[in-house]
Amino acid sequence: MKYVVLVPDGCADEPFDGLDGRTPLEVAKMPNLSALAAKSLVGRAAVIPDGLPPGSDVGNLSILGYDPNEFHTGRAPIEAAAMGVHLDPDEVAYRCNLVTVGTDGTMVDFAAGHLLSEQSAPIIAALNAALGNGREGVTFHAGVEYRHLLVVPREWADAECTPPHDLTGRHAVLPHGPASDRLIKLMDASRAVVAEAAGEVGSTATQIWLWGQGVRPVLPRFTDRFGVEGRLTSAVDLVRGLGVLSGIEVMDVAGATAGFDNDYGAQRDACVESLADRDFFLLHVEATDEAGHQQNAAAKVESLEAWDSEIIGPLLGTLGNFGAFRMLVLPDHATPLRLGTHTSDPVPYLYFDSQRPGAGGLYTEAGVADAPIVPGHQLMSLMIGGAPGST
Ligand SMILES: [Zn+2]
Repeated sequence: MKYVVLVPDGCADEPFDGLDGRTPLEVAKMPNLSALAAKSLVGRAAVIPDGLPPGSDVGNLSILGYDPNEFHTGRAPIEAAAMGVHLDPDEVAYRCNLVTVGTDGTMVDFAAGHLLSEQSAPIIAALNAALGNGREGVTFHAGVEYRHLLVVPREWADAECTPPHDLTGRHAVLPHGPASDRLIKLMDASRAVVAEAAGEVGSTATQIWLWGQGVRPVLPRFTDRFGVEGRLTSAVDLVRGLGVLSGIEVMDVAGATAGFDNDYGAQRDACVESLADRDFFLLHVEATDEAGHQQNAAAKVESLEAWDSEIIGPLLGTLGNFGAFRMLVLPDHATPLRLGTHTSDPVPYLYFDSQRPGAGGLYTEAGVADAPIVPGHQLMSLMIGGAPGST
């Protein structure tokens, strides 16, 4: 038996004025997905449990079959795993954005003009020289573009922090809670260092912004939990980090990006290649989420259509060569165009078993609106154990 999970990040949506009151899943021409849905079980999954932030870290933990209530510690330690940064049990990792904050305290840009990694690396090096490099247990780790990591002692963990992308255009809300003094002190101290280093590389970054903290999560190996070995492809650190932490091998696929230029065919080919010797594969594409954030309806529809023509159609034509297979399609959260950010709403899922066709339905938000809500993390055992109620 082969198991394939397809994750169009943030693809679930709401009726949108710019699409004549329809959702991207309703508008996109997806003949392969429609045909598959007609012989699948479709329903609604709560991938973001109540009380947890609607992030890709939480949603993808659910998709991989780990209850986020039990296993989620924060997003930064998952990114640390993807970056190859080791966390000791007495350490905590923070996401460290380079951001642009105006002189009046407004969060102008959570991504500091999407500076290039070549620009951010010397800024992070300067921060380490001035404030980090292990002094008092504080170390900065350079990541990609505006996304970096701070590792500090565990007693720095207890604070409530606001993600900078939720503050865009608003007065920046500083951390609060027992550890907030330390965080604010470091963020304040970063300004002089960032100002000088950013000036030299022509970046608009003004300071660091700390959020998303957590200690290293302990995930039982995916293989021990579900009895299959697998690989995944994703251009996103959070998904790659979950692979590292759960023992799912992360494939590097040339052309896989987090943007609209993603090479869907290359990721599909990686899936087919991997299934030759491993039974499980997860294929994640970021583009639908990025389109949601940019409130770009055309790009969201286009990405779904690429999923259909370049991934779902060809895969359905190929997977039968391996024998019986099961497939799960679902996003890790909704990213409605109207809002430009993630929500915690349940998302539509599709479960297909080549040996036991389901009752069939429509894979759209409205198509599953009356279905009972299943906890997202249960779908993996449903797929690998076989769905008792799949007819
Ligand atoms: Zn996501």
